[in-house]
Amino acid sequence: MDSMEPTPRVAIIGAGMSGLCMAAKLKAAGIETFTIYEQADALGGTWRANTYPGLTCDVPSRFYQFRFAPNPGWTHWFSTGPEIARYFDDVADRLRIGDHVELASEVTSARFEDPVWRVALADGRELTVDFVISACGVLRVPRYPSIPGLESFAGAAFHSARWDHDVRLPGRRVGLIGTGSTGAQIVGALGGVAGELTLFQRTAQWMLPMVNPRYSRLTRALHRRFPRLDRLAYDRWRRAFEFAAQGLTEAGWRRSSVQALCRRHLQSVKDPELRRALTPDYEPMCKRLVVSSRFYPAIQRDDVTLVTERIDHIEPAGIVTADGTVHELDVLVLATGFDAHAYVQPIELTGRDGVTLDGAWEGGPRAYMTVALPAFPNFFMLMGPHSPVGNYSLTEIADTQAEYITEWIGRWQAGRYATAAPTQAATDRFNAALRTALPGTVWATGCNSWYLDQDGLPELWAWAPHTHREMLATPRLDDYQITTSAPEPTPA
Ligand code: NAP
Repeated sequence: MDSMEPTPRVAIIGAGMSGLCMAAKLKAAGIETFTIYEQADALGGTWRANTYPGLTCDVPSRFYQFRFAPNPGWTHWFSTGPEIARYFDDVADRLRIGDHVELASEVTSARFEDPVWRVALADGRELTVDFVISACGVLRVPRYPSIPGLESFAGAAFHSARWDHDVRLPGRRVGLIGTGSTGAQIVGALGGVAGELTLFQRTAQWMLPMVNPRYSRLTRALHRRFPRLDRLAYDRWRRAFEFAAQGLTEAGWRRSSVQALCRRHLQSVKDPELRRALTPDYEPMCKRLVVSSRFYPAIQRDDVTLVTERIDHIEPAGIVTADGTVHELDVLVLATGFDAHAYVQPIELTGRDGVTLDGAWEGGPRAYMTVALPAFPNFFMLMGPHSPVGNYSLTEIADTQAEYITEWIGRWQAGRYATAAPTQAATDRFNAALRTALPGTVWATGCNSWYLDQDGLPELWAWAPHTHREMLATPRLDDYQITTSAPEPTPA
């Protein structure tokens, strides 16, 4: 780097997968003047917060890893949560990102004071930076159900993302609310472990089967010897996912083939009564597709019970369903999902002319091409609104977004602008195009899910994932409002 180039001061919020990705890209561009502020006392984001039994990523390991940081040692096609958490720790070590991370450092607000950002932390510190990058994650804020009497439950109760490992499960009566990807994985893992497991299902889910072979010692040795193999595998999986993902955004044979697989998988439930109870009344893939070959065998066990009766209330002894039955429980697990529309919030963000994020998003989260916001100059997001997160690799999306943001910061360093924010017109154009395309996606075929925005449309990417890469390949300068008073050079 030219020693006379100005040095961008960058604050990244969050040391999860996307924060680490952002850090790696900045380092690769020779930018070391960044700090990651992480509110927890360890890095890893979702892989640190979620430790529930059965946690497995349903995106293949070789496609979930960063393309730029291959791991020859993956043990299975699909990895467990702890293995992925170790991978991200290893990436932080390998790329020397750890020194840039400040743990137990919660950002509470950020205010744009032209041309810098003033960032406040919960511990009272105030920072001045040139760029703020939100890498807060998508599914971060647990959603607790508002069931009357929940607090009165006498046993142990916790959310799946706050698993209490001190609570013993063998021999005990465990109740589980929720049949999303999390609930399904927990059922697969707890059947035969808990004394009795009762799953309270409000809505049945389609399940795509998942085979999960081990990588042989030979495969691991070959990947260690020839790192190129990892990249080839990554690209192969990406092509396969791109191919299948088209079924999500376009009706046609791709969509119907995956749907047929789900329907056939359901036939593995032998008891017709149970099968009927597990049959969803909406199209497969409308909700985020659950990928599991362990759920159906587990739910058919004698020590696992499915309850489809509506939950009426909870009392100290357990869950009372609408038919008056008291389901006595020792432990209650809430796999009830997350507030998927929080994004940067609850951080208070104030942009140009006092515009607040809460105000800007009153009608729902809207961004420019998933990464930036009008009136919030030099502020960028990873995994922002409408990122292509449906059954796809989030690391691949983060990679695209982090490259794009790094490109903008490089231009700042080269003195080509002082502040940049997308125009309202460009943001509106993008959102209008998206909203025209969204009704054609499978997510809008008539079901309720965390994908849906307050206007009932999915808050997802409406096109094939590769269009996200293409749109963000280079900044479209005409879409941005730029101020050009060049930053002061930093003396050598
Ligand atoms: P989720 O998909 O939002 O599912 C929440 C579940 O809780 C739903 O079954 C929901 O029922 C139920 N529920 C919520 N409130 C309820 C209430 N008051 N009474 C009864 N049931 C209630 O949450 P999640 O399973 O934690 O998954 C969230 C996302 O995390 C996934 O979609 C996925 O993107 C990600 N994830 C990924 C993996 C992976 O392997 N990659 C693994 C786990 C999670 P309704 O359907 O009726 O609303």
